Amino acid sequence: MFQVMSPRGAQWGLKVLLWIARRLVPWFPFCFLLACADEDPKWHGDTAFTAEERAAIEEGAAFTAARVGQPMPVIVWDGPIDGERSIKREKPDPKLCPEIGGNCAGWVGTHHMLLEPLQPDQLRIVAAHEFGHTFGLVHHDAPGLMSPTAAVFEWTQADADELK
Ligand SMILES: [Zn+2]
Repeated sequence: MFQVMSPRGAQWGLKVLLWIARRLVPWFPFCFLLACADEDPKWHGDTAFTAEERAAIEEGAAFTAARVGQPMPVIVWDGPIDGERSIKREKPDPKLCPEIGGNCAGWVGTHHMLLEPLQPDQLRIVAAHEFGHTFGLVHHDAPGLMSPTAAVFEWTQADADELK
């Protein structure tokens, strides 16, 4: 619904904006110097993951990071799992992956990852794949880690071709 603001409402809106701007301005030079490191670079993992599952996820993340030439993502198993860069122990909603028939074991949005609790061997593949997305890799149709139905913990030529 859209409502045209009354002049009085607009005046208040402007006041609020000015108040916010005044609060932000003193911080701007710091933000600039720190290259606006607006985000916590760490991933926050769900405390519900077992020790075995955590190890599998870390192995998967390290596997992909090494292949794309990026630093290993730092994962702390502290939650909060609903914030930025969180990894939740949850099977993604089927609506999130219609292209593979709705049976997705993992999903990652801009800064939010869902991983279905699976056997460590499977979970490692899913985590490696989802971290691949965080490094900018997209799906391909050939066998390999970035196949949407990846079932083998492997890095193939099709995966490597995505780095070109
Ligand atoms: Zn994917």
